Amino acid sequence: MARDVKVLKFGGTSLGSPEAVERVVSIIQQAAAFAKSSGVPRAVVVSAMGDVTDTLIKIANVASREDQSYKKLLARLERSHIKTVRKLVSARNQQSAEEVIHRMFRYLNEAVTGVALVRDLSPQAIDYVMSYGERLSAHLLTEVLNDRGIVCEYLNARKIITTDDHFGAASVDFKTTNANIRKYFRVRRKIQIVTGYIGATRDGKTTTLGRGGSDYSAAILGAALHAKVLEIWTDVSGLFSADPRLVRGAKVVHELAFEEAGELAYFGAKVLHPKMILPAMREKIPVRILNTFRPSDKGTTIVSGFAQRRSKSRTVEALTFKRPVIAIHVHSPEFFDSNGLMTRIFEVFDKHRTSIDLVATSVAGVSLTIDNDKYLSNIIAGLSKYGEVRVERGKAIVCAVGGSVKAAGVAGRMFTVLGKRSIPVELISQAASGVSITFVVRERDAKKALKVLHKEYIE
Ligand code: ASP
Ligand code: MG
Repeated sequence: MARDVKVLKFGGTSLGSPEAVERVVSIIQQAAAFAKSSGVPRAVVVSAMGDVTDTLIKIANVASREDQSYKKLLARLERSHIKTVRKLVSARNQQSAEEVIHRMFRYLNEAVTGVALVRDLSPQAIDYVMSYGERLSAHLLTEVLNDRGIVCEYLNARKIITTDDHFGAASVDFKTTNANIRKYFRVRRKIQIVTGYIGATRDGKTTTLGRGGSDYSAAILGAALHAKVLEIWTDVSGLFSADPRLVRGAKVVHELAFEEAGELAYFGAKVLHPKMILPAMREKIPVRILNTFRPSDKGTTIVSGFAQRRSKSRTVEALTFKRPVIAIHVHSPEFFDSNGLMTRIFEVFDKHRTSIDLVATSVAGVSLTIDNDKYLSNIIAGLSKYGEVRVERGKAIVCAVGGSVKAAGVAGRMFTVLGKRSIPVELISQAASGVSITFVVRERDAKKALKVLHKEYIE
């Protein structure tokens, strides 16, 4: 496939009101008009509108408790979608557009009624109910665009994204998915309006890719289509040097490498879903983060080749933190001759589907952090076989990325500055690629650490 394809993705806020959808329409219109010079928009991936996913989860929960008020909630959700259609679709096409939405709600109603009757809400049922968020927004946008003469088609991602049956956070089968996508797009010329966030198992059960997963859907499509660019349209003007709500002097970083963006996304920056980095990075597809409400802002471009970018990069480009995290320390004399002990320790986490964020080792033990305590008691039980286990809650991970965070003296200066402000630091770790320094502080010190370092390196 020619390398002139462009994939666009619009988040929930970008579709959160009729005015916002209007902006989305004009962005797609522009993209279509400038296809020759800036890439042919082949796929537009959408999230559910506004907070519809949360509302659907609530509806399913209410229904499963045999509480009839789910009917009211459903009716309200239907009204708000219909209202948007009425505002945006011209009289000529309104009835047919409304019928598309009503039809979706009939199916959704059946599903939720099923939940209410069985009074059981399995992860599989939740995924099915949640899938309507993206199906509704994709249908709605398709209707609006066609009404405006921008010819496009609705595409339910269940047809192309094949996953396992880990409902709520399914893993993508890339081999099948890539083949599906290429085959599907080969014979279609119209812009495809694709439901983000969802996929299906081989036998057709609906799955979701994890909250915020529409970015991931867009990267999967972009990678399979060898896109020239992937545009993530959101409600902020890019990735910031720190969360602007916490650090007043924070500003947009205009260029970052995939490695840096990946660390930021993983350690708390909310703008991008961490899973989206890998497919885009592998195919070297530049990812642009742009603001639907300020479309001419420069945004952030994520590029490949940290090595090249490094020379123009500052010591520290951006900072983020993740909290709360839990530190787990395992002490054992066995570490002195630890044949395979580390592997067995990692296996405990693996078995309980809990990923480890940071690891620090010494001769007599290992310290690790995790960010969810769902299986904590099982993990502690599993680890106790290998040594004495100590658990500390109320921690945070701070992550700094930049071109020379690994240079001599950087870590020293960083921890001296924090020390002067009485912020103790532990479990320091530097990514081998040299893009980041990560360390653990007390949760209550996290904001202060971010401010102190931002002042020292960025302002
Ligand atoms: N609508 C889904 C969510 O709220 C996916 C997304 O927004 O990317 O998590
Ligand atoms: Mg998002």
